[in-house]
Amino acid sequence: MLSAALVAVMMAAVPALALPEPVYDPTPEEEALFASIMERLESNGSAMPIAVDETLASFRKPLRKTFDCPEGSFVRSIDLSVSTKHVRWNTKVAVERSLGTYKWNLDLVTYGDTAKITANNWLMIDPRPAARRESEQLSGSTTNEALLYHELLHGQLVITEMDSAEWQARACSRFGAAKVSRDYHETIDPAVGHYLRAVSSEDADTSASSSY
Ligand SMILES: [Zn+2]
Repeated sequence: MLSAALVAVMMAAVPALALPEPVYDPTPEEEALFASIMERLESNGSAMPIAVDETLASFRKPLRKTFDCPEGSFVRSIDLSVSTKHVRWNTKVAVERSLGTYKWNLDLVTYGDTAKITANNWLMIDPRPAARRESEQLSGSTTNEALLYHELLHGQLVITEMDSAEWQARACSRFGAAKVSRDYHETIDPAVGHYLRAVSSEDADTSASSSY
């Protein structure tokens, strides 16, 4: 698929044409669905073994990080900016056969001895199966929370890794190596499993106490 940066480069050669949007704003239905899943997920913060606060903050304003590069790097420092936007479901952009996708769009521009890495990321949820699950009472709606938590972790685990000396050294030495090269499912899957168990045991407690 074309990255936004590549589309920008291609379109720069044809300035008379408007830049096509590679993705679109969510439909009102998608927005409402996303807001209600997000509200439940955020109210269950204690059930999340890995917090996703930085990803959540990146929806509101760009998350900025700056770090100095080791001696001998191609730049002296890196300026990082990570934003996340909820966008309309689009199977051309989504991971194949997925129900939701968190897409990293990393771009690098060098200004003198500083490299600016900008990530304008997209989160999308397939609305039809998600809407169906919302109507399936507890199990389905909890599955939607797990799906959203899964996608937010795709953002958070990379953001967290950006604090590591290893990631920063790679970003400073050669941008290609700073790309998101793995899917983190070995960490995401157990974290989501933990969330589901924690939330369903709370529900079990609630129903047990209310039956007395
Ligand atoms: Zn995934």
